[in-house]
Amino acid sequence: MKERCLTQAPLQRKRLLIQMAVTPELQHTVGKSAGFSGTALHTGEKVTLRLHPAPVDHGIKFKRKDLQDEPTIDAKIENLKMVERATTIGEGSIRVHTVEHVLAALWAMGVDNAVVEMDANEPPIGDGSAQSYVDLIRKAGVIAQEEPRKFFHVRDIMHVESKTGTLIILLPDEKFRISCTQAGPNNQFSQFFSMEVTPAVFEREIAPARTFVYYEDVKPLMDKNLIKGGSLENAIVVRGEAVLSKEPLRFSDEFVRHKILDVIGDLALVGRRIRGHVVAVKPGHATNAELARAIAREQTRRSAVATPRTMPSGDGGLDIDQVMQILPHRFPFLMVDRIVSFETETKCVGVKTVTINEPFFQGHFPGHPVMPGVMQVEAMAQVASILLFKLAKSTSRIGYFMSADEVKFRKPVLPGDTIFIHAELTKSRGERLAKAKCHCVVNDAIVSEAELMFTFLDK
Ligand SMILES: [Zn+2]
Repeated sequence: MKERCLTQAPLQRKRLLIQMAVTPELQHTVGKSAGFSGTALHTGEKVTLRLHPAPVDHGIKFKRKDLQDEPTIDAKIENLKMVERATTIGEGSIRVHTVEHVLAALWAMGVDNAVVEMDANEPPIGDGSAQSYVDLIRKAGVIAQEEPRKFFHVRDIMHVESKTGTLIILLPDEKFRISCTQAGPNNQFSQFFSMEVTPAVFEREIAPARTFVYYEDVKPLMDKNLIKGGSLENAIVVRGEAVLSKEPLRFSDEFVRHKILDVIGDLALVGRRIRGHVVAVKPGHATNAELARAIAREQTRRSAVATPRTMPSGDGGLDIDQVMQILPHRFPFLMVDRIVSFETETKCVGVKTVTINEPFFQGHFPGHPVMPGVMQVEAMAQVASILLFKLAKSTSRIGYFMSADEVKFRKPVLPGDTIFIHAELTKSRGERLAKAKCHCVVNDAIVSEAELMFTFLDK
């Protein structure tokens, strides 16, 4: 029996293993709700904070339980309102102050999604460190969810600086690392600390480090009664050469460790796990936030680039006529509009623009159009077939789609999406078998992936 179709394979012949080749880092949330009470730094009033689990891609949101309709605020850099002494986020007229320590604890302890519910406009200050939040997260537990984490991989060096001598540089790195230098007035209390940010290192080395303030800075605020909850129980006060605190320093370099704590908390507003090395000299909330903004801008730019408005044609790619000379598929089953590039002989990228006019949207589903996953597998198979054809340089043999392994559908594909179909031939066994690793990308995110197997037969 000879089939005309390069990629036709009855569904029952496909081995659909919903499994992935490399286990990705998954998103996490808290295992259960948990809370604690304490004093708010600025108002001095009692506040209760509760953590709640949240679904994938939810991020961290603050909930004001004390207000009508209990509004929530996304812990996102777009919502940053103030960086004076502490980090304030808000939406509309709603504000949440001093979010950096609880954010640092959540982020560093691996929590991607959570609701931080409070009955006041700021979290309990605890002892001025992130210790009480780490204890709370431990109480609630941290559990894995089914979607992979989102990352920001630093590709090019980024930096921000201020007139006051702050300099923050972000370098490419496989891990999330921070190297920080802190220096007080006249370079007093110059300290350096460098670490990879992991839950264990954060809990041991960073979380217990307390806020420190200079007496000259807080004196006017105390006089104006603006930090009613502030005391030597929740901050270290530096007055000249003297270090005043209720308990002795927890680390000889406690100040720089707290600076790192603030950097982690402020950069959590990016909403993606950073893969890069932060080198910070005298960092503060304003410059931390500026770096977070620069990262968010770069991420937006990358997403925009992933959906080019002009498609290259001709050189290095194949237009629709050339595609149709190779593939026998026709409407409604041709799932490749163009091959935009051949990276090597065994690797190429195809494009499929998905419109509401696709016939499958009529039934999949009425009123809720989603591109069927099997159509994405078909698109991958067709792009891989083009590679096979180019490699064989002959139309006398034909490749049959044998199996699809490691198939994963990660995100829905909707009308208006442009799919970039990446295919790479990874293996060929003798003359008869070939394997291709494929994935589909929409807006810089992988929406589906599969490993496809083909066999060759003479026509
Ligand atoms: Zn702080």
